[in-house]
Amino acid sequence: LCLVDCHLVEILEEVLVLEAEALQRAEISLQKEILDNLPPIQGDEQKLRQVMLNLVGNARQAMASGGTLTVRAYSAHLRGEPAVALEVEDTGGGIEPSVMRNIFNPFFTTRQDGTGLGLSIVHRIIEHHHGDIEVQNGELGARFIIRLTVAQVEH
Ligand code: ADP
Repeated sequence: LCLVDCHLVEILEEVLVLEAEALQRAEISLQKEILDNLPPIQGDEQKLRQVMLNLVGNARQAMASGGTLTVRAYSAHLRGEPAVALEVEDTGGGIEPSVMRNIFNPFFTTRQDGTGLGLSIVHRIIEHHHGDIEVQNGELGARFIIRLTVAQVEH
């Protein structure tokens, strides 16, 4: 990992630009609930971009016949330390319990052309950042929540 001060929201915005055309084509509307002035976290930008691209890509694939992609960013805590939380939520119907149990396992896929590697890599990257990833079923679809601790301020 190459750790630098990262603004997660900036990385997220870059990924949303990359995905914009595909989202539009799938008739997916984008809802942003992003707080201002979130502190930077220590991270590997390239790897975090890969994480977000994966989550947004999965959300898009879950909404083949359109829907709403909601992204959120806000202040949170992780192991008692200040953190930034990032959520990616879709309206694609959510995840069955049998899938939920295996979702981060390598080679676990329910897709015809899937590799099942995406989320296992996401999980590993977040682990390497000493962060936390959670998956839940939201109101209409899947919700992935990532938390990464805020960069230490030098004294
Ligand atoms: P792949 O995309 O190659 O299948 P992933 O590791 O990215 O591999 O995902 C594993 C499985 O998790 C998918 O096959 C799918 O069943 C499920 N999954 C991932 N994201 C979502 C989502 N947003 N909504 C519903 N199911 C999902």
